[in-house]
Amino acid sequence: MEHAKIVVVGAGPAGIATAVEAKVAGIGPVVILEKRPHPCDTIVSLYHEGKRVDPVYRKMKVEPLGVLSFDTESREEFLERMNKVIKEYDLDVRYKEDVQKIVREGDNLKVISGSGLEIEAPVVVVAIGVFGKPVKPSYKIPSKLKGKVLFSLPKEPPQGKKVLVVGGGDTAAETACYLADCGNDVYLSYRRPEFFRLNDVNRKNIEEYAKAGKVNLMMATDITGLDQDDDKVLVHFKDGSDVAYDYVFYCLGGMTPAVFLEGCGVEMDGKKPKLDDNFYYESNVPGLFLAGDLVALKGSIMAAFNSGKRVVEGILKKYGDKVRDC
Ligand SMILES: Cc1cc2nc3c(=O)[nH]c(=O)nc-3n(C[C@H](O)[C@H](O)[C@H](O)COP(=O)(O)OP(=O)(O)OC[C@H]3O[C@@H](n4cnc5c(N)ncnc54)[C@H](O)[C@@H]3O)c2cc1C
Repeated sequence: MEHAKIVVVGAGPAGIATAVEAKVAGIGPVVILEKRPHPCDTIVSLYHEGKRVDPVYRKMKVEPLGVLSFDTESREEFLERMNKVIKEYDLDVRYKEDVQKIVREGDNLKVISGSGLEIEAPVVVVAIGVFGKPVKPSYKIPSKLKGKVLFSLPKEPPQGKKVLVVGGGDTAAETACYLADCGNDVYLSYRRPEFFRLNDVNRKNIEEYAKAGKVNLMMATDITGLDQDDDKVLVHFKDGSDVAYDYVFYCLGGMTPAVFLEGCGVEMDGKKPKLDDNFYYESNVPGLFLAGDLVALKGSIMAAFNSGKRVVEGILKKYGDKVRDC
């Protein structure tokens, strides 16, 4: 059985920041287990090529608390930055380790991955984000529409198609503009009469695209259901209209992976995990901390970086004697 001082689950911004802060604080060995063959899978898989990565996201400016920070840059530059961080801090990231379970084993927690790897540590930080589970609409999506109704951009985006984007946040606005740039006829349906949580750049862009006729804004529209219409998606709107699209993209955000957390013994408070009152993000399971989007009211990369710093402060306060001695 392998032993570490901290096992971090997930090599996204929060997991990497946690490992960096732990290293800087003299804690080791720290092992990160990442289910994909690369770090930052949300950014690799869900951000489109060349996407602007903004530190101000969901209208929230977050000042850096710890070592990691960044200014607006492209998706590719951001990923390069994170790979450099992993090298510079010599982080021990084990790829293709999909963590299935975390169980108590005496004073330690045992982390078990799908490959059969088991590591014990007094402290485990779960930083698996929320985008493994996209938020879905309340109505049923007919299985026949698979491949036509999407929750993220595919590697090869559609071109020359009639596309509906659903949502009113930064991701919806960026997706609509990107699909317009790919030569699609783009419609954006949002249930509110106005955007209220876009950052300034996305607001300006979507307004310019709308003015130029590249994106058709359908404000204050609500969808009640979907059906198949030959090879198209028939969208039923609340006002009684039915419109066919080649593709529908839902950009409604991500969902807390409650089943995974509850399987680790973490108690939930509604949709969110119960956490300590000191903002160190320890769960009800002693030694099991959460970081990043799992603990954020409004998730963003800067908030994920900062949560790593707070978690390590909490670990040092409560478990310093257990993790400091290498
Ligand atoms: C399309 C889109 C655009 C966005 N644009 C911005 C932006 O411009 N600026 C901004 O600040 N924020 C943006 N965000 C939000 C930002 O990406 C998240 O807030 C941030 O990535 C959260 O970091 P995290 O480390 O908590 O989780 P994630 O980045 O989701 O990382 C979680 C990691 O854990 C791994 N993992 C999951 N389950 C397991 C498991 N069981 N075992 C092992 N590993 C596991 C995943 O593979 C992943 O690498 C955007 C989000 C989306 C979807």
